[in-house]
Amino acid sequence: MENTKYDLIIIGAGPSGIFMAYELIKLNSKKKILMIEQGKKVEDRFCPIEKTGKCIKCKPLCHITNGFSGAGAFSDGKLSLYNEEDTEIHVGGNLHEYLGIENTKKLIDYTDSIYLEFGADPKIEGLEYKEEIKKIKDKAKEVDLTLYDVPVRHLGTEKAHELYGRLEQFLIDNGVEIMFNTVVEDLIVQNNVIKGVRTKPAKYVEDAEYTDLVDIYAETVVIGVGRKGAKWLSDMCARHNINSRAGIVDIGVRYELPDKFMADVNKYMYEAKFIGRVGPYKDKVRTFCQNPSGFVSTEVYDKNITLANGHSYKDRKSTNTNLALLCSHRFNYPFNEPIKYGRNVAENSNQLGNGNILVQRLGDIFNGKRTWEKELQTNSVVPTQKSAVAGDITYALGYRTMTNILEFIKALDKVIPGFAHPDNLLYSPEIKFYSNQVIIDNNFETSIKNLYSIGDGGGLTRGLMMASCSGVHLARIYNEK
Ligand SMILES: Cc1cc2nc3c(=O)[nH]c(=O)nc-3n(C[C@H](O)[C@H](O)[C@H](O)COP(=O)(O)OP(=O)(O)OC[C@H]3O[C@@H](n4cnc5c(N)ncnc54)[C@H](O)[C@@H]3O)c2cc1C
Repeated sequence: MENTKYDLIIIGAGPSGIFMAYELIKLNSKKKILMIEQGKKVEDRFCPIEKTGKCIKCKPLCHITNGFSGAGAFSDGKLSLYNEEDTEIHVGGNLHEYLGIENTKKLIDYTDSIYLEFGADPKIEGLEYKEEIKKIKDKAKEVDLTLYDVPVRHLGTEKAHELYGRLEQFLIDNGVEIMFNTVVEDLIVQNNVIKGVRTKPAKYVEDAEYTDLVDIYAETVVIGVGRKGAKWLSDMCARHNINSRAGIVDIGVRYELPDKFMADVNKYMYEAKFIGRVGPYKDKVRTFCQNPSGFVSTEVYDKNITLANGHSYKDRKSTNTNLALLCSHRFNYPFNEPIKYGRNVAENSNQLGNGNILVQRLGDIFNGKRTWEKELQTNSVVPTQKSAVAGDITYALGYRTMTNILEFIKALDKVIPGFAHPDNLLYSPEIKFYSNQVIIDNNFETSIKNLYSIGDGGGLTRGLMMASCSGVHLARIYNEK
């Protein structure tokens, strides 16, 4: 493999990279494509929590976020679409700033059609109950919250897994080489031009002293490393002077409450996107990734940092809904390292949970006390994540984050009665890391010639649909070169 020359290397086999490779095949590109992925094939990805009930922190890498289909494999598989009448794209990042609204809508339609071709459920949630949704919107407005109703196609975790399995086979059958269990350790850059990548086996991912690195060369390199690769990408920006600007970090909690309180919202929209600047700081707080009848999950990042997340299956159901409540944090001067800040919060929180995420009853937070395990056992809301340790999340989340979240919960309770019920659960921390925002031109090219950035990692997108769209779009640009 040493010194092999490819036309194109795609780093990361998440939705952004997959859809780039897919579209190049569809465009009859004859380019020699190599995808390098530090995780495993999708069919070899299993989260042991299904059997053990507890997160065992898989080595060398967490199955939830690494491997073919990236963070998409165990995601809820909600593909965010748009309403015909929308004049803005409300979710999924900044792609529309490069493409314009109408082109973005067309791109979503096209990318959605690929998901359908590979087996997505034809049903779209959130189109039927316009009158009811309007009533909720109006109620939200009264408490200074905005509700964005974005139709979603729900794959479901188990179906997403199967769908991406079919895509994996399609890429392999059509000549895309995929190197699994291989970490891209470094980029090879000469005179501001990308030349290739430096790799090592995934089992040495945490071994900074490992020296037996293998160089692989290509004309063009695309970075699609997702949030999992955000820190690596920030390091690359610093090491190779790739133009970037300080990004943000989204910090908050995974909130779990009974389906019965969320029944209307779940029925009318499946996922509701509430956003508001409530509380003294006027920071943007938002709901994200709502999972009706779902399960709270954990994801493990490097150095065992363990975060909360959530998903739901198409067939297997709990009686709880979970969703993220997130605040965006931006830092300027003298400190401007959002990833570092987020990691510190996560480390503090994990330390208090003996390496696990924490869970606390809302009522206990308001009463200024920690939650004890025995109290959870009699709590009306039974946690769906058994690894979570009962404790006090307020020790670890900053005052500002905590205040934002509590004010937001109180405001949303006026729209969704029961949203602030004392038995509802907060899991901490849920954090969305983005690398320093990589500065790209209209063709998604970075300041390094022939080095491109797509998907969530460089801060362009947030979510499955837009990450996938960014790959399709770059394939079209690249094919024209
Ligand atoms: C539990 C969970 C539920 C989710 N639910 C939803 C949902 O319902 N709807 C939605 O829109 N979004 C959801 N998301 C988010 C969604 O999965 C991501 O937005 C999407 O996967 C981003 O795609 P990507 O291609 O940018 O990156 P990723 O999917 O993160 O893929 C990046 C890939 O790059 C690999 N990689 C990273 N660094 C390196 C390196 N140095 N060398 C080699 N390989 C590397 C990683 O192993 C990974 O496989 C969820 C995420 C999780 C974890």
